[in-house]
Amino acid sequence: ARLRQYISSRRRAVLILLSVLTFALLLAMPRCRNAAPATVHDLAVYHPIRPALPATDKKRPDPIKWLEENSNNRHSVVDGYMSNFGFGSGKPRAALISLVRNSELEGMMQSMRQLEYRWNRKYRYPWIFFNDEPFTEDFKAGTRNLTAAKCYYEVVPRGHWSLPDWIDESRFMNSLEYLGTIGVGKGWMVSYHHMCRWNSGFFYKHPFLKNYDWYWRVEPDVHYFCDIDYDVFRFMRDNNMKYGFNMNILDDARSFPSLWTRTRAFAAAHLGLIHPEADLGWLLDPQAGGEYNNCQFFSNFEIGSLNFWRGEGNEAYFNWLDKAGGFYYERFGDAPVHTLSVAMFVPKSEIWYFRDIGYQHDINHHCPPHREAKCSCQPTKMDENFYKLVPLESPQRKPADTCIRQFLGG
Ligand code: GDP
Ligand code: MN
Repeated sequence: ARLRQYISSRRRAVLILLSVLTFALLLAMPRCRNAAPATVHDLAVYHPIRPALPATDKKRPDPIKWLEENSNNRHSVVDGYMSNFGFGSGKPRAALISLVRNSELEGMMQSMRQLEYRWNRKYRYPWIFFNDEPFTEDFKAGTRNLTAAKCYYEVVPRGHWSLPDWIDESRFMNSLEYLGTIGVGKGWMVSYHHMCRWNSGFFYKHPFLKNYDWYWRVEPDVHYFCDIDYDVFRFMRDNNMKYGFNMNILDDARSFPSLWTRTRAFAAAHLGLIHPEADLGWLLDPQAGGEYNNCQFFSNFEIGSLNFWRGEGNEAYFNWLDKAGGFYYERFGDAPVHTLSVAMFVPKSEIWYFRDIGYQHDINHHCPPHREAKCSCQPTKMDENFYKLVPLESPQRKPADTCIRQFLGG
């Protein structure tokens, strides 16, 4: 009987031990998955053109190291839920934002499907749609259906989408006709001027964004080619980034003939607002006496800080341009305006080139050639050359790529 008692008490002990172990294992499971051997992120390949900061400089974040440590979905939706209950470092207050018309539902669904599949199904950041008129039930139903995240549908306040009173309407009408005649892209559309102005100086002022710090701008009909296996908003926050881009263009300079003169005048009048580490060198054309070379961050893709745009420098700059009427008498685009603002008020170490996010907008596309990034695009010869750092004078190079090279090299 003693022996039997001994055995049964042992069995009980073993049972208790087993259940404790199972419990512990269950608890540890999400961590184990997180701890899976990290594949070195392909960004690490680019140390030569964008060196990681020296290890001794402890104050400054090291974005490449961050990516090595935080890829593989370490911060999945589970972590997001946990942070809602007060654990972890907290999920950034961020959203996917899109200005879009009801008539662009199909295109919006295309962009959403790809971005959800490649990224947001893992992170569930809310979608916020903006429109100058109310969204239809069709639009809401079609988009809501594509995500597990929350969706919000917001109308732009009238005052953010109308002619300011200092604009001379007949001069604006003449400009529309002129821009149409010379063929400046969409320059004859009244709504296009409102749109460029809204994206330049108003989106971050929308009351609904008051409680948000970060945004990812998404347009209808764009493509996202690659799996993104880290939380881009945490990346921005943890590394103190202000602005992220992934393509550059050289836009039609006839849309902003006075922009550079006005920007120079602004800078001269507000020297105190210019960031001490600002670097506009990559935007100047030495062959044209230091004029603006028209390089622009292609702003239909942006991952950025709303608080940067809300800051004193950008506000002063936007108002300066707006008062002079350049959004109406000319066709200032949000791309050059954002580019110049970022260049004046943000040090380069806080601007990030998302070269790992494969992307297409109309004829412009970008396909990272490093296959470990799991992309559904074929890198072109140009993509390959770009990553091989073919010299600038190479004829195979897209002209706008020189903008990125200048940005990285300066
Ligand atoms: P492009 O990329 O410069 O050719 O300009 P788009 O026509 O793509 O417009 C840029 C963004 O603004 C897109 O997300 C459009 O859906 C949006 N957009 C442009 N005009 C309007 C408009 O009048 N109303 C609304 N709601 N969205 C607009
Ligand atoms: Mn577009």
